[in-house]
Amino acid sequence: MPKLNDVVAEIAADLAKATERGAVATYIPMLAEVPINQFGMAVVTADGETILAGDADTVFSIQSISKVFTLTLALGQIGDALWTRVGKEPSGNAFNSIVQLEYEHGIPRNPFINAGAIVVADAMLSGHQPREALGAILRFVRFVAADESITIDEAVARSEKETGFRNTALANYMRSFGVLRHPVDHALGVYFHQCAIAMSCRHLARAGRYLAFSGRLTPEGPSVVASERARRIAALMLTCGHYDGSGDFAFRVGLPGKSGVGGGILAIAPGKASIAVWSPGLDPHGNSLLGSIALERLAKAMRWSVFAG
Ligand code: GLN
Repeated sequence: MPKLNDVVAEIAADLAKATERGAVATYIPMLAEVPINQFGMAVVTADGETILAGDADTVFSIQSISKVFTLTLALGQIGDALWTRVGKEPSGNAFNSIVQLEYEHGIPRNPFINAGAIVVADAMLSGHQPREALGAILRFVRFVAADESITIDEAVARSEKETGFRNTALANYMRSFGVLRHPVDHALGVYFHQCAIAMSCRHLARAGRYLAFSGRLTPEGPSVVASERARRIAALMLTCGHYDGSGDFAFRVGLPGKSGVGGGILAIAPGKASIAVWSPGLDPHGNSLLGSIALERLAKAMRWSVFAG
């Protein structure tokens, strides 16, 4: 088996030279300004080792990776009742698609597409103000990442709010079916701000440990969430974490992963490691182009695919 340190260093060195990097997201103006020429990677292993490469300490907008954390919290808050308002199936459509909502009575296919995450945000508002829900999200992320410095980039949140016409349409449409139960601007306020959380690869890899280690921050440590819940969230990451690119990601990488249009991907090798990669250039599905290549190479070299081999 090759040494993890060497594998990570080699991937980062090779990808630093990549000429084809995809394109940064431009529909959120603040994201369009991020220099494309960056790549970072962080791996936290079961024995507590942290391996970093490239721009692993540069913070970026986690965007849809936040959907993993809010799903964890909403399930903690309302439990399986959440599944009456959002499905568990891959959508086969773009992350911001509205088409399936009409014939599925406003119920989004899964919690990782935008519509689903807006429902999750709405669920977090039961008995809470938007500010409290956001406080809970930030507290959770800081706790699992063991870093109190993590914050929300207000400029990104504002930029997204000003241009979030599609998300606003999704929210209004779901509200018309009664799937959203709070004022749409409350659910959207939570959603836009959770997407604007700024984290580095090091932060994210640490934050993903509870998913890699059956609900624990270390294999022997105290439980953060029930192992069954961590396992189910990982299953959804595998089937839905890359939108209509989820099949391709499972085929190439074979790990549960969640991408964001900021160019980050959080992936987990169950029982072995939590991994974060970041490169702002995206493929046509809105997933980090170099990030998925890095994960494909890492999973192959370390034989970490959940499908073995
Ligand atoms: N905030 C982004 C949006 O709503 C999140 C999308 C993503 O990361 N795929 O469009």
